[in-house]
Amino acid sequence: MKAAVSVITDSNDTIVAIATAPGEGGIGIVRLSGALAESLLASCFVSLAGACPLQSHRLYYGHFRDSTDRVIDEVMAVLMRAPKSYTREDVAEVHCHGGSVVLRRILDRFIDGGARLARPGEFTFRAFLNGRIDLSRAEAVMDVIRSRSESACRVAVSQLEGGLSRRTYAFKETVADLLAEVEAGIDFPEEDLPCSDRLRLLSITDSLLKEISTITESFETGRILREGLSILIFGKPNVGKSSLMNALLGEARAIVSNIAGTTRDTVEESLVLRGLPLRLIDTAGVRDTTDSVEVLGVKRAQAKVAGADLILLVVDGSQELDGYDFKALASCDPEKALLVVNKSDLGVLPLSSEFSNLSSVEVSALDPAGVSKLLDAIYDYFTRSSGSEGRDTPLISDRRHRHALVGAMEALGRFRLGLQRDDPPECSALELREALQSLGEITGETAPDEILDKIFSRFCIGK
Ligand code: GDP
Repeated sequence: MKAAVSVITDSNDTIVAIATAPGEGGIGIVRLSGALAESLLASCFVSLAGACPLQSHRLYYGHFRDSTDRVIDEVMAVLMRAPKSYTREDVAEVHCHGGSVVLRRILDRFIDGGARLARPGEFTFRAFLNGRIDLSRAEAVMDVIRSRSESACRVAVSQLEGGLSRRTYAFKETVADLLAEVEAGIDFPEEDLPCSDRLRLLSITDSLLKEISTITESFETGRILREGLSILIFGKPNVGKSSLMNALLGEARAIVSNIAGTTRDTVEESLVLRGLPLRLIDTAGVRDTTDSVEVLGVKRAQAKVAGADLILLVVDGSQELDGYDFKALASCDPEKALLVVNKSDLGVLPLSSEFSNLSSVEVSALDPAGVSKLLDAIYDYFTRSSGSEGRDTPLISDRRHRHALVGAMEALGRFRLGLQRDDPPECSALELREALQSLGEITGETAPDEILDKIFSRFCIGK
């Protein structure tokens, strides 16, 4: 563990940081947390309403003064006494004018008075340490701050509200009950577990496995909402892939050219469509070629076909389809492909039957109305395939959470097998403890320090 940046130290210190983003702003906020928060605020802030001492959770107007009693700024100040605060410690905030000099002077004044500069994520770490939020909710705080689309933000906010942690605690409780029963068997080894009890334990385990697996399965949807749906624009040269990509992006970034094979490598761009994040990938055309640079591009394109969430298989609708179009079709999983019949402004020839299994949309990359039709089709594809927004099951979007849930399921699966085989209760207890360990990694009780450090080091200072 890198002790110098570790957040897991000195939890008795009073910490301070500028909580607002760097640069000029209407207001800036300096935040303090810890035992000295109230006395430090009282020593620098004078309420112009004469309030002394300050009441908790009230915003006061007044002057912030330096050590010689000169006014640094006109500010608003608030004290939030423990435990009703973000960290569950005494927290004070000073809202000043948003210039860097004022913020810096206020920060320095608190540091001179005995506070220490907070490490990244240290306020949220204290909220976790003091039991106000569990680890999955602390992670969600960062996801809310980082989210670049409405959908990513919705997933993060629902995690912040505790959907995943509530379910995880419920799972843990069930596993703990199972463990208690199994451990009772260890204490009385001469008594075999009656058949009815075994069946009951099996049925509890089965429904637990089912519930955990439903949440685990939501990972794909959650991941897409968070990271974006990756869309590969695929097809032979000159069908209009780059033109479509540019039209979709509404900006000329990829090379548009009527010389076959100019787009030699892949070009990737991000956009947000009706709150849904998308990553568009333009590829080199599919065709046999001896040009080494292009061969590389084609290979990469084919590798990307396998990894994409959705493939836009582009054909030139005004021309007879040829072997290259069929080759491109053969590389696609029909479940994940949308046929884009481009150049509809030049007329559309009937499609051969091999292509008619795919959902398709006719467009012209030169016509904005056609492009908006394509965006509609992409959006429909996504909402059809996820179909899970607004449901009760929490969505997971974090690989760490999925890994922990899968670990718990594997341990429960082994426990189940042991019950069927009538294994000694010691072995069963071991599996159940492992399941508890995995579930505890989500809520943070059993997450090792390295993981905690890794998670909190992603935070910004002041959060
Ligand atoms: P790519 O090789 O598949 O990326 O194809 P490009 O985007 O470079 O387009 C090849 C040629 O087709 C260019 O001259 C484009 O202007 C033209 N083109 C692309 N889409 C359309 C379309 O919808 N209608 C017409 N008439 N021409 C198009």
